Amino acid sequence: MPEATYVPPEQQSAEDLRYMREALAMAQEAFDAAEIPVGSVFVRNGEIIAKARNRTNELMNATRHAELEAIDYILSIFPPSSDSFAVSPHAQAAGENPFADTTLYVTVEPCIMCGSALRQVGIKRVVFGAGNERFGGNGSVLAVHNDPALINAPPYEALGGYYRAEAIMLLRRFYLSENANAPNPKSKAHRTLKTEIQPPGVSMHGPAGPSKKLARTLRGTSSPAASSASSRAQTPVNDGSGGAGAAKEVAEVSDGQRRGRSTEEEASAREARNEGGKEGEEQEASQA
Ligand SMILES: [Zn+2]
Repeated sequence: MPEATYVPPEQQSAEDLRYMREALAMAQEAFDAAEIPVGSVFVRNGEIIAKARNRTNELMNATRHAELEAIDYILSIFPPSSDSFAVSPHAQAAGENPFADTTLYVTVEPCIMCGSALRQVGIKRVVFGAGNERFGGNGSVLAVHNDPALINAPPYEALGGYYRAEAIMLLRRFYLSENANAPNPKSKAHRTLKTEIQPPGVSMHGPAGPSKKLARTLRGTSSPAASSASSRAQTPVNDGSGGAGAAKEVAEVSDGQRRGRSTEEEASAREARNEGGKEGEEQEASQA
């Protein structure tokens, strides 16, 4: 099973954290525009060359994730000169491919679609905040960034855990406000913002994700201690020493990044939002 690579705070560089703060500012901008709050910045040779955020609601287009918005923009400002660029951007001479020496900072792990697109264009490196257990393409669900089975483009490095709590809290605030504005908010109208952040690697769902039965079981545990113990019983806790980690965290941040999801996904997301008790909060925030 793939896992995202979690970097503990004491090993995160000041430079990476500085750019992630810029990405968080973009996520806040998305929040203010009633978009799922995910933001990104692309940094090439020490310079921010693009900033982007989700525009899925505005454009009614489920592919308009922050990362793809930025890819389009970067290609517009660094138009490729080689005819072979479209089919093999990663095989260009040095300096030809703007992505080859660019690091992406994004507040939530890229989804499978974006993770694959980033590999196609030959991104050098990805640094993300929260993992994305439902849709993550940098190790949480699929490891499209370095899966050796994908032979048409070289792998790229992907590291997570940067301002993870801030990224999760933005998502929680978004879903809380969304619930409050729902036509039939039911008991959720009285919910308050949950501020406890589970350690990375402690899944609220358990290792295989999201069996409804398991999710209900976990949600049914009322005290944080009991919940934590229950989670540990289901899922090994990552000690931060190796590759596990960010992967599981978006159990805390799960659900419904995209408006354009299938009806079934939407129903499932709605169910998670509507039926959950205390722990239901944990399931409402993943980026896709
Ligand atoms: Zn995406």
